[in-house]
Amino acid sequence: MTIRVRFAPSPTGYLHVGGARTALFNWLYARHHGGVFVLRIEDTDRDRSSPEHTEVILSALRWLGLDWDEGPFFQSDGADRHRAAALRLLEAGRAYRDFTTAEELAQAREAAKGEGTDLRLPRRRAEALPAGEAEERAEAGEAHAIRFLVPEGETVWEDMVHEEMRFQNAAIDDLVILRSDGSPTYNLAVTSDDAEQHITHVIRGDDHLSNTPKQILLSEALGYPVPTFGHVPMILGSDGKRLSKRHGATAVGEYESQGLLPGAMVNFLALLGWSPGGDLEVMIGEELIERFSMERVLKKSSIFDLKKLDWLCGQHFNASTAQALEPALTEGLEGAGLATRQELEERRDWYLSLIDLLKTRARTIPDLVDLARPFLVDELEFDPEAVTRYWLKEPAPVLEQLTALRARFETPKWEPEALEEVIRGYAEELSVGAGKVIHPLRVAVTGRAVSPGIFEVLALLGRDTVLVRLDEAIVRLDGR
Ligand code: GLU
Repeated sequence: MTIRVRFAPSPTGYLHVGGARTALFNWLYARHHGGVFVLRIEDTDRDRSSPEHTEVILSALRWLGLDWDEGPFFQSDGADRHRAAALRLLEAGRAYRDFTTAEELAQAREAAKGEGTDLRLPRRRAEALPAGEAEERAEAGEAHAIRFLVPEGETVWEDMVHEEMRFQNAAIDDLVILRSDGSPTYNLAVTSDDAEQHITHVIRGDDHLSNTPKQILLSEALGYPVPTFGHVPMILGSDGKRLSKRHGATAVGEYESQGLLPGAMVNFLALLGWSPGGDLEVMIGEELIERFSMERVLKKSSIFDLKKLDWLCGQHFNASTAQALEPALTEGLEGAGLATRQELEERRDWYLSLIDLLKTRARTIPDLVDLARPFLVDELEFDPEAVTRYWLKEPAPVLEQLTALRARFETPKWEPEALEEVIRGYAEELSVGAGKVIHPLRVAVTGRAVSPGIFEVLALLGRDTVLVRLDEAIVRLDGR
């Protein structure tokens, strides 16, 4: 049997991280088992659905790399099939026409509330209606809904996450499957579409648990095979409350705009409710696919921990090759007006070494752009705090040091080892720690208090730039 799963978002908003996690688990399950990942857009809520939302969702899935094998199918295209299924149930006596008006239903609800009883009005109505009357009233054009006649008994399934699940059918209302305007409802449409698309496994959020017995009963009544269900636990905010914007961005698109690496986001989402076991957390691409299994999906809810995301982002930058980071960084540098694509291509080897040097300190692409700034500008920007701290506290010795280093930088081979020797040798002569010399030097060549290792930084800046920057620093300190 080929495993066929689906992601079925409603295009009523952006792609929420919870939805993305559902999509990812389905995708991983399909890829792990060599199955098929179907994308279905559930656009039956006409008022809230829009093509713009669909586009936002598709674009977020593409960014995450969750490619689909079939679709996108649009649920609204199946309306005739859904209606035919409802009529089939009606003919088979598994559904009935309900002429209760919205007003009557509201009144009955109020009354039931007053009595503290459970509302089972539609079922009673159906029983009370004399034979043939429903057909006559329908033929006369009286507005009515079609309700599924929920059978007696209980509905049991073996959930991929929660194991055995049991629902008493008596607790399930006879659900409307076709509204009085002829439109199918969610549970009917999903059941019919899952059968039509030969879905074998339905992996989705816990919030759908109460729909599952209804969909199982509908499948059985319609003679469809019942898919295997797996309900993935909720994602909570760091305070244990339902995840909301208070906890940070909830739209996948926002993380894309922040310049996160999609691989880090995918890794983070995968760990929301799943663990490969042991201490393993950082997983890249194929490794996630290989290790993923529904058996290791946790029953308890997971915490959306932005600190963990930040850490994973750093790990993924570390693990990425310069070549992999190059396209996004080039775009960022062009956008920031720091370099053109052509300039970077002309000295590509240098550029790739620069990325290798900087990537261990970045969490996002904009971080990387900022780290690259001192290497690409003509005019250095100075961080005032760095200047105060490392230059202005003892300006005279700093001036002396920078002048001495400038002279010593004229001759050595321009590579990290040789530069390290010069700098450490000079610090020894002064009988000070190397840091004492390195901090003011770093401010002079980068304008900042922190940077990657200074020897590599000097090497990549090149002798000419370093000498010019030292001259400028000497002038500034002298004329102070
Ligand atoms: N369209 C539903 C939603 O966005 C999902 C339906 C399902 O997975 O069965 O919540």
